[in-house]
Amino acid sequence: MASVFSYNLATQDTTLYDIKVDRLQNTQSQETIMSSNKDWMQRDLNVLWHPCSQMKDHETLPLIPIKHGKGIYLEDFDGNRYIDAVSSWWVNIFGHANPRINDAIKQQIDTLEHVILGGFSHEAVIRLSERLVSVTPPGLSKCFYADNGSSAVEVALKMSFHYWLNKGKPKKQKFINLSNSYHGETLAALAVGDVALYKEIYEPLLMQPITVPSPDCYNREAGESWEDYSLRQFEKMETALQDHAHEVAAVIVEPLIQCAGNMRMYHPIYLTRLREACDKYGVHLIADEIAVGFGRTGTLFACEQANISPDFMCLSKGLSGGYLPISVVVTHDEVYDAFYDDYETMRAFLHSHSFTGNPIGCAAALATLDIFESDNVIENNKVLSKAMADACHRFVDHPHVSDVRQHGMVLAIEMIKDKKNKIEYDWKERRGLRVYEYALSQGALLRPLSNVTYFMPPYIIDEEQINKLADIAWTGINLATK
Ligand SMILES: *Cc1c(COP(=O)(O)O)cnc(C)c1O
Repeated sequence: MASVFSYNLATQDTTLYDIKVDRLQNTQSQETIMSSNKDWMQRDLNVLWHPCSQMKDHETLPLIPIKHGKGIYLEDFDGNRYIDAVSSWWVNIFGHANPRINDAIKQQIDTLEHVILGGFSHEAVIRLSERLVSVTPPGLSKCFYADNGSSAVEVALKMSFHYWLNKGKPKKQKFINLSNSYHGETLAALAVGDVALYKEIYEPLLMQPITVPSPDCYNREAGESWEDYSLRQFEKMETALQDHAHEVAAVIVEPLIQCAGNMRMYHPIYLTRLREACDKYGVHLIADEIAVGFGRTGTLFACEQANISPDFMCLSKGLSGGYLPISVVVTHDEVYDAFYDDYETMRAFLHSHSFTGNPIGCAAALATLDIFESDNVIENNKVLSKAMADACHRFVDHPHVSDVRQHGMVLAIEMIKDKKNKIEYDWKERRGLRVYEYALSQGALLRPLSNVTYFMPPYIIDEEQINKLADIAWTGINLATK
């Protein structure tokens, strides 16, 4: 037993509460005997609830406790190694335990681990903001930080709405999004997404966006080019803008790849046209580059391929090299200036998160940008992208593969039941999961998106590892489609 002291200022009463402390005692006595995957899995399942998982699956699908990571590899407690082909959910870009990022973090911890960013500032966040302003598309000039992707999306949505309010246009309260889009899991981010699997159940809680059919080129006609299809789909966006601009604050898109929407891809011309139309109709453009930023699509930012600057660019995931939860919304002076006024006007953007601009996250991000700069990463990735394309060419004619698509360092292979008549597998058959399980047995982490197997590896992968992944996917897909 221990006592907790409480003092009531009003009555000047003091109270002593007795609490039981045995729950606080640590579990160290167990540490020495725990060592295998099975031990850790059992201990995990006693106390954890995992993200994006039906926990009952783990009755048959073993959970994999990772002991350590190095470069492209993750190693579990039984000594099995896995190539991290999905960059640990698209965040890691220069490998696990990258020495340069590790050093930067260690130095930062000894200098300043965290400080409130309201009214205070620090060197790492200032340096990072300068760097981000210089590497993001022209015109983006102010950085607002949050601590994960979803909250960056929330910031962009709120800022856009609030901008129009400050500009005397309070009716602009809606958002236009694309079908099959994904912008995170918090309620507003979920509302502007469109993946039914994550969204449908929560629909009663969500605001209603205006959803426009995606330029996703999977749906193009036979013989139609990506460019032609994306242009054709753009007409629907133009119509939506024409009809709704008066009530719309912003259009939000994932540039070039709808990652969580099964890695569906489209042509940059769509973004070029979208930028023109947003200007024409007086609507903001939010580019959610949380997944595609930092070199994923072959350029540092996907927007570069369309030669556009959005009004808001959301970044996270690769921002810290995949080390720490940090996110940022980069916007331009015109937005910033619409909030800049005397306090009494109530125009300020009063939004915050406790870990906004965390110094350790900023240090990891600075080290990440250093690596991009010194190691010619974007150029070298062209060689890796080509190797991925070459290794996966054989899937194009596979009888149960409907599509092989690629933008830079993301390559996706979609399985189909009947290729000729375009009949999908029943989702309940969970074919992608079969590829996943086979890949695990062969030393690769290839977490699927329904029937899509994809490679989105850290940029330190080599050609031998790429070929190995393609071989594993080939056999895995053969087994899963038998
Ligand atoms: C992952 C992701 C998010 C959400 O980021 P979290 O850090 O998981 O909240 C938002 N948008 C896109 C495009 C993403 O891929």
